[in-house]
Amino acid sequence: MIKENIPKIGVAIIGYGGMGAWHGRLLKTVDCVELIGTYDINPDRLTVARENEIRTFDSMDALLNDSRVDVVTVAIPNHLHEEICIRAMEAGKNVICEKPVALNSAQLQNMIDASNRCGVLFTVHQNRRWDEDFRTVKKLWDNDTLGPIFRIESRVHGSRGIPGDWRNQKEFGGGMVLDWGVHLLDQILLMIEKPLESVYAQLSYVTNENCDDGFTAQLRFKDGPDVEVQVGTSNFTSLPRWYVLGENGTAVIDGFRTEGRIVMVSDWENRDAVPVVTAAGLTKTMAPRTDETIQKYPLPMEEADVREFYQNVAAVIRCGEKPLITHQQVMRVMRLMEAIFESARTNTVIKNFDI
Ligand code: NAD
Repeated sequence: MIKENIPKIGVAIIGYGGMGAWHGRLLKTVDCVELIGTYDINPDRLTVARENEIRTFDSMDALLNDSRVDVVTVAIPNHLHEEICIRAMEAGKNVICEKPVALNSAQLQNMIDASNRCGVLFTVHQNRRWDEDFRTVKKLWDNDTLGPIFRIESRVHGSRGIPGDWRNQKEFGGGMVLDWGVHLLDQILLMIEKPLESVYAQLSYVTNENCDDGFTAQLRFKDGPDVEVQVGTSNFTSLPRWYVLGENGTAVIDGFRTEGRIVMVSDWENRDAVPVVTAAGLTKTMAPRTDETIQKYPLPMEEADVREFYQNVAAVIRCGEKPLITHQQVMRVMRLMEAIFESARTNTVIKNFDI
């Protein structure tokens, strides 16, 4: 929910690349934020920032020494997050780190320690919590719309491999587990508040030998559901973004918006079907249900406004509210990504983890 009248905070952006520019555009639309400026090591990016009417700093120190800056948003390649976030916190700034927050849980712990030591806010931009497709699935989950849910599939499919910049180099924190997995896993752990019992994962290296260009992870939660999270970058036609199976109904969301459908069973006992005859046999079990025994519904559209993220940051700093994205949550996601790497490396189901 968008709140009014939160006192303003000053925000500066470190790293004015693709995502830094996105923050720049978003920040101009948030009432309780004043965009103070940006710094990037690449002078060309500073020129672009000025063309976009954003003030630029000559150095990171100049940005960190500016007393108008309450919060620093760090939007630089992943391997630099730990060092630069800690430096900003030690300069007394509250910090928003882009995802993935770090390359491993040891780095993340150092960042959390710095936040506690310096007495500043440290949070992570898990913006895909505000995606409508996720909000809609969460609503189905929270409201038990489909009956007990026993399986969820969440996936994103692209067809261009990994972008050819730092994202395809392991040492820079590249790879699709860290890049997209972090979003999809964060959504699942936020939605399903149950103990996670096991993880089994496989990574793919179709276009890239250096780091994963996709993965599949099977998550088993205590008493269900089973969840499959999948990221692919060599998928020339995509499977649905979400496929959610409850005992009384099934929901499909095709893409990032909420195009899709819900099909509920209205007469479970009536199992009559016209057999499907294939080239080599026939089946009643796999034949579609007759129209009289099912009901089709539109998805319950759930709107979301990503400006809530910065409003929450302002409310934490100015009004003592709780952060929406907590240390504990980001540590859980990080540990889960580590379990995914471990499972894929050893080709085993990981059961003993502290998530
Ligand atoms: P990018 O390569 O487009 O931009 C990175 C920028 O950082 C570049 O302009 C580079 O010059 C600058 N930079 C590098 N080192 C620096 C330093 N020491 N000081 C200042 N600037 C420095 O990358 P991107 O796509 O903008 O990704 C940046 C971060 O944002 C990554 O962590 C990425 O995972 C994240 N990201 C998040 C989302 C999201 O939806 N939350 C989407 C895309 C990227």
